[in-house]
Amino acid sequence: MRGRIHSIESFGTVDGPGIRFVIFFQGCPMRCQYCHNPDTWDPGLGTEYSADELIAEFERNRSYYRTGGITATGGEPMLQLDFLLELFEKAKQKNIHTCIDTSGITFQETNASYMEKLDKLMSFTDLILLDIKHIDPDGHKKLTGHSNNRILSFARYLDRIGKPVWIRHVVVSGITDHDEYLNALGRFIGSLGNVKALDVLPYHTMGAVKYQNLGIPYPLEGVEALPKEEALRAKKVILRSIKETRQGG
Ligand code: SF4
Repeated sequence: MRGRIHSIESFGTVDGPGIRFVIFFQGCPMRCQYCHNPDTWDPGLGTEYSADELIAEFERNRSYYRTGGITATGGEPMLQLDFLLELFEKAKQKNIHTCIDTSGITFQETNASYMEKLDKLMSFTDLILLDIKHIDPDGHKKLTGHSNNRILSFARYLDRIGKPVWIRHVVVSGITDHDEYLNALGRFIGSLGNVKALDVLPYHTMGAVKYQNLGIPYPLEGVEALPKEEALRAKKVILRSIKETRQGG
C-alpha cells in the first residue's frame, strides 16, 4: 500500500511531545478559512510513499526522537485510514510513539467496518491532537464548510475509549473570540475525561501568501492577526469554564 504525502518535517517540535518526525498527509475535505496549508487539500497530489519507506526515514535519525516519535498531520491524515493503520502498526512494532493531528471530520460512528478499522488504529496510537475549530454548529459550518457533529462525536468516542487527547483551538477575532463560544467550548471539554492539554492559538495571517501563490482568494482577507494577549485571555475563559463544568458548577 502507498500513501499520498505532501511533505515531511524531520525535526518537528510543535506537533506532540519531544522532537518528532512529522508526516503531512495529502488531502483534506475541510475548507477552514484560516487554513495555512491549502496546498494539502487536493487528495490527488503529493508524493507516494510506502509505510516501510517512511519508517526507514524515521530510523535514519532515530536517536533524535528519543522523547518524541511520529506525528501524522496534514491535510487530514485520517482520510487515508488504511495507509495510516499500516504505518502505525509498523511504528508500534518498532516501539515508536505515535500521534495523529486531526480535525476528526472523517469520523463515521454508524459505519461498522470504518469503526472496526478506527478501533484498530487507536490501538496503535498513543496521542490524538484534536482541532476543534468552532464549538457553535453554524459558526463551524461557516468557518470550515462542514458541520461539527462528526468532530464532537469523535471527541466523545476518544473519551469513551480513554485515549489521551490534546485539544487545539485557534482564536479568530470576530469569529471564535466571543465569550459565549469560549464558555461553550470549555463546557464541552470539561465534559470529557481524557483531555490532557489545551492549546489556544492566536489566528495569524502567514498563510495568506500561499493562497496568492495558488491563485485562490483568501477568505479572511482583512481579518487582523490576533494579539497573543487575546489568545491568553480566551484560554483563561475556556479553562474557567472547564473547571466549573468539572466541579459541576
Ligand atoms: S482541517 Fe487543517 S488542513 Fe484541513 S482545511 Fe482545516 S486547517 Fe486546513
